[in-house]
Amino acid sequence: MSLVIKNARIITPAGVQSRGWLLCQQGRIAARGSGDAPTPDGATVLEAAGQTLLPGFVDVHVHGGDGVDTMDADPAALATMARFFARHGVTSFLATTWTDTPARTTAALAAIRQAQGRQPGGATLLGAHLEGPYLNPAKGGAQNLSQIRRATRAEALPWLDTGVIKLLSLAPEYEENHWLIVECRTRGITVSAAHTDATFEQARQAIDLGITHATHTFNAMPPLHHRDPGVLGAVLGSAVVRCELIADNVHVHPGSMAILWRLKRPNQLILITDAIRAAGQPDGVYPVDERQVTVQDGSARLPDGTLAGSTLTMERALWHLMQATGEPLENVWQCASLNPAKAIHVANQKGSIEIGKDADLVLVDDGLAVQTTIIGGEVVYQKAARP
Ligand SMILES: [Zn+2]
Repeated sequence: MSLVIKNARIITPAGVQSRGWLLCQQGRIAARGSGDAPTPDGATVLEAAGQTLLPGFVDVHVHGGDGVDTMDADPAALATMARFFARHGVTSFLATTWTDTPARTTAALAAIRQAQGRQPGGATLLGAHLEGPYLNPAKGGAQNLSQIRRATRAEALPWLDTGVIKLLSLAPEYEENHWLIVECRTRGITVSAAHTDATFEQARQAIDLGITHATHTFNAMPPLHHRDPGVLGAVLGSAVVRCELIADNVHVHPGSMAILWRLKRPNQLILITDAIRAAGQPDGVYPVDERQVTVQDGSARLPDGTLAGSTLTMERALWHLMQATGEPLENVWQCASLNPAKAIHVANQKGSIEIGKDADLVLVDDGLAVQTTIIGGEVVYQKAARP
């Protein structure tokens, strides 16, 4: 099975190739060039008509979409999410848990373990992002406050032993959580500061212990104060911490997005959606554990007004980042693919258009609308042609 994409504007780490072609074989990127494309016998040819070819997006923080959610603990729901994400250019993702009871979290991880890998017609499920329950209730946001707790070995070690957790979000200000930072680091699991009220000093200490990531930077943490920079000051000022951003223009003002870009460009800003089951669905009322979230004009809120995830999609996030920073696509593309791939240690296979990497690709128009999504060299989504 081979696939040739021709007449594309190809964005690579080495620069932009106009009138480019790409040959995909056995699921990988086999060759690249410009001008007339080779067409091996039996190859499928995709005419890009000058549109832009990007590496497929990698969403490391997404709870749900298209009516279903990770906490449904159902492999079929994960497959539904995967198909929905593929329509928005996502080629791999981490199913992200919410703070919940031990039994529900265990069940969600079991479903992820069962479903892990390629999903028919959808994005690849790379594993789990465990968001909570080891958070700070004072910055709990929409997390289920009654289930927020400190990390214990009895509870957390069996979860780590499932092997599916690639990213773990916790509040680093609690000493009871420190062993888990060290344990994750030993196992190659990325640890993120999340839903936290840590002081600057506490956050610096946690970075020394092994935190390399910040969960939805600016959200669920105190704002920066010049005499009390706090966890936000620590992650912004760190040379090693990669920062997630919900670029939906609701969670974070575009002016703050631009500041984050200036501090973290080009390799340490990670676009995420933090999307919930309402993504891709009409405005209305949706369940989150025993509670209800109202979605109005695409914003999801609890009855008290607290933001509860988003209905964002990755191509919109990238578009908003371009608008906020005034940067062209060729300067910011890696925030949606290569940077998250590096954060969870899959950049040897994914995240950029380079020979030998997985043929996970997305073709977009000038407005970043997704035209075609390719996963493992296979076209999994194609936008219907205009009549
Ligand atoms: Zn989240």
